[in-house]
Amino acid sequence: MPELPEVEVVCQGLRPHLMGRKIVQIRHSGMDLRTQIPIADMFRHILSRTVVDVARRAKYLIITMDNGARMLIHLGMTGRLGFFPIEMPAVRHDHVSLQLDNDLDLRLNDSRRFGAIHVFSGEEGADLEQTFFKAIGPEPFSPAFSARYLIEKAAGKKQPVKVFLMTTTTVAGIGNIYANEILFAARIRPTRSVASLSPAAWSRIVLQTRLVLQHAVDCGGSTISDYLNADRQRGFFQVHFKVYDRQGEPCTTCRRPIEKVKIGGRASYFCPKCQK
Ligand SMILES: [Zn+2]
Repeated sequence: MPELPEVEVVCQGLRPHLMGRKIVQIRHSGMDLRTQIPIADMFRHILSRTVVDVARRAKYLIITMDNGARMLIHLGMTGRLGFFPIEMPAVRHDHVSLQLDNDLDLRLNDSRRFGAIHVFSGEEGADLEQTFFKAIGPEPFSPAFSARYLIEKAAGKKQPVKVFLMTTTTVAGIGNIYANEILFAARIRPTRSVASLSPAAWSRIVLQTRLVLQHAVDCGGSTISDYLNADRQRGFFQVHFKVYDRQGEPCTTCRRPIEKVKIGGRASYFCPKCQK
């Protein structure tokens, strides 16, 4: 499943190919994703419009048009975007295609159809932080994500720090894999109650969240050029994880075997020596 770094890499990969391009045709397989594809709204607000911005919020890609309308794309579990020459036939699981004014299609392929597309008019699109994203916490790279913010957010709570970090109202887009990696880098055991963490520990979490996510984005940067070579087999890039899925393997710092526990039903990995 794409996590925040993968979506950021997709965003950076799309941007140069979409900016300033006009959407001249829209095609739809007739199949819905996790939610209904708002095809009528796409024709109303996106068609014949020019892309003026490509951004990311949480795990959503946000494509903004010159009329202020916004198309949000969530890749779900298996969603992939790629640019293809318009004459190249669509393949199985290609569900939406935006034809650009340079004779390339931006195609969304999604075999399991857990992805989603949302379209907002210019008026609705200006207000998404107060509406669509209202319940989503700050971006990990934004100044709003600080130790002080986390301390306030955790006040009165006793849940494990890993569950807290993975809660979307705490911070946007930290899934299971990166929650494990961030807590290893911050040397904090994932089972620790948020009530027990010192201000210094919260500061380490903020710092390591940014470092771990940025490292993953950097690892994915080399895949950006793949967007134009129409390689449909390419999966999401792999980062070499330090604890995730490494049960029984030696810790990269102290060589102790990595242990695995379930926290909130999710597989959690830690070094019993390095993470307190
Ligand atoms: Zn260790």
